[in-house]
Amino acid sequence: MQKNSYGHRPHAQSNRERCFTLDWPDNGAGVDGIFVREIAGGGDGPTLLMTAGEHGVELSGCAGIDSLCRRLADTAFRGTVLAIPCLMPGNIRHRAHTHGQVYGSQERRGEYDTYLAWPGRPDGSTGERLCHRVWTEVVSRADVVINFHAWQNSASCLFTDRSVPGAIALAGSFGNVFNILEDDLKGSLHSRVLQTGRPAALVETHGQCRIDPEAVIRVRQGLWNVMVTMGMVEGPLELPRPMFEAGAEHLIRAPKAGLFVPLKAIEQVTRAGELLGYMLDVETGERTDLVSPADGAIWLIARNGPKADVVLQGMHAYADPGDLVALIKEIIPLN
Ligand SMILES: [Zn+2]
Repeated sequence: MQKNSYGHRPHAQSNRERCFTLDWPDNGAGVDGIFVREIAGGGDGPTLLMTAGEHGVELSGCAGIDSLCRRLADTAFRGTVLAIPCLMPGNIRHRAHTHGQVYGSQERRGEYDTYLAWPGRPDGSTGERLCHRVWTEVVSRADVVINFHAWQNSASCLFTDRSVPGAIALAGSFGNVFNILEDDLKGSLHSRVLQTGRPAALVETHGQCRIDPEAVIRVRQGLWNVMVTMGMVEGPLELPRPMFEAGAEHLIRAPKAGLFVPLKAIEQVTRAGELLGYMLDVETGERTDLVSPADGAIWLIARNGPKADVVLQGMHAYADPGDLVALIKEIIPLN
């Protein structure tokens, strides 16, 4: 990638690893650009790109990618790893899901949005210009792309497209109970890569805005498994748990107002009729039990209000009647 292109600033380099910053001029977010880590393995092989932090809240992805890069620093492998752990430093620095928009806004086409702006435009919005830079200088070099996001209340999950050769193998890498194998996230980074015929996935880890040790391990171990699958490293897959394709979903809503008290955890298997949790009336102390309507596994087990992805109130456990408090998905074994 020695292009001598404008705004391509190298950092400290070793024989195997180099780090450089892609400038992102006139962004108004008070950051200079994004750093890219490039680690060359010991022989010919494919190029794997890993990214995280697009909304500034997917921090277990940022930490997991960094952790894997440190593992690779003294590990023999074939091919090349490209890593962008902090894809949208403006959002991270400002602790904002969507910097430059009203707090809590889920507008998808804001000035700084990159999520559905791929592959970007050289003369587009601030976010589109960043996408264009990353797409032309980094994504274009990759054979496989994994992009990490995170959500607050729901189970970890992998999205890909089973019709793209090699994509289904990615589903068996991250130890997520749930895998969605039809692409319905058009415009996102992994979807655009899938459209070019290359395997790609979006991985949602559980937990936003914090670095969850269990999620970090899944990110690091899952990327390692992708490298095993791609023939970049030797060894067996490090599969931590059974995995499934997500099937039909069943929504459980609060029958009355109150605190929703969960009695199960995300990703736990459940049977029809099993107790999921209860509503606690904050004025009378009355308890109202909620049971699972079907066999499946738990995708979500918390009160999930409007915009829960980006607003603290949306995650508050006090439910109004009709609020979503649990979601069961039926599951089809993958391994
Ligand atoms: Zn995200």
